[in-house]
Amino acid sequence: MAFEIERVDALEVLDSRGRPTLTVTVALGDGTVAEAGVPSGASTGTREAVELRDGDAARFGGSGVTRAVANVNGELNDALAGRTWDDLASVDQAMRDLDGTPNKARLGANALIGTSMALARALAASAHEPLYEWLPGFGQPARMPVPCFNVLNGGAHAPNPLDFQEFMVCPLGAPSMAEAVRAGAEVYAALKKRLAAGGHATGLGDEGGFAPDLAEPEEVLELIVQAIADAGYPTGSEGVGIALDPAASEFWTADGYRVNGQLLSSGDLIARYAEMINRFPIWSLEDGIGEQDPEGWKAITAELGGRIQIVGDDNFCTNPEIITAAIADGIANAALIKVNQIGTVSETLDAMRICHEAGYGQMISHRSGETPDTFIADLAVATGCGQIKTGAPARGERIAKYNRLIRIAAERPDLPYGLDR
Ligand code: PGA
Ligand code: ZN
Repeated sequence: MAFEIERVDALEVLDSRGRPTLTVTVALGDGTVAEAGVPSGASTGTREAVELRDGDAARFGGSGVTRAVANVNGELNDALAGRTWDDLASVDQAMRDLDGTPNKARLGANALIGTSMALARALAASAHEPLYEWLPGFGQPARMPVPCFNVLNGGAHAPNPLDFQEFMVCPLGAPSMAEAVRAGAEVYAALKKRLAAGGHATGLGDEGGFAPDLAEPEEVLELIVQAIADAGYPTGSEGVGIALDPAASEFWTADGYRVNGQLLSSGDLIARYAEMINRFPIWSLEDGIGEQDPEGWKAITAELGGRIQIVGDDNFCTNPEIITAAIADGIANAALIKVNQIGTVSETLDAMRICHEAGYGQMISHRSGETPDTFIADLAVATGCGQIKTGAPARGERIAKYNRLIRIAAERPDLPYGLDR
């Protein structure tokens, strides 16, 4: 149904790391007003859409976003407001055309994604539908996603010596969304006790997971398996599984992968993962190989892709073209989906549809820098992808997404929970 945009405007606000980001407001001609907060990553893929920052060292150490804000209030508002539009996709396309670059570098992907999300939210409100019902799907019926809780942080997200970035617990076998969130929180609490008992610090990393002074990934996995048992859950598909995001682009070097001081070839690293999969209930491995190493990606997919989910993040960047090429090359069997990596909601949905049609999984994801915005919870439900990672069961900006999922499940008890496998 055609609609009129009355106004688009943005403000510079803070994200969960205390760095500037945008909140964008869209007002429709029918009086509907909606707002969206823009996330921001720390371990970013080199081919992500460009997050426009001011680079003025006198403000926020150069990370201000006043130029992106000005682009929303100026060029985007001028192009979008006072006109009648057919749908979200046509507005997203108009913003891309106006930007004119292949990677949204001129107006900023942060300016575009905030506008796109706020518009989607406004259109849902205008249609008197919850966002998870209004968002278009592509053949996967709506379902409640398995929440993947990042309970232990390393890499670029914590100042500890741990090279692997994310250790997630995933209540694959939970009977419902609420019970899944409960399991995540109970395992998290049990892990805190284990860490404290072992004399480790229980301070938190950027995504709310603990950031102890541990350096060996296997030592962390051992503790997590114990915490799952302490909390009274079985491990694996009937209970709580483990997903890893080593974010290997960050510890890749020209000489090999540097893990706890050791230098490993891709082959060594893949063999190490294979041993971890044998020992621990790991069902998903994201960015086990760096984006700098396409041959390593082919090898890890060939060697482990038949056993577990292999997720591309830094190398895919939620980019429909890159994912299409990777599918042709037999790289990975799932994609991480981050709205700000590509910069519009429509392209995010395209990337997911392409994955779905190729039999690739899709895991919706937050960023390490977040706001209390819960858009991605609705997106995960609407698209029926079955999985979402949005940090630990701690810190308001992470909890907001999990609580939104509990709310949706309460509104729609008919929706099935979990991965459709
Ligand atoms: P980022 O990390 O948001 O800091 O990029 C998340 C991830 O690597 O999945
Ligand atoms: Zn990642």
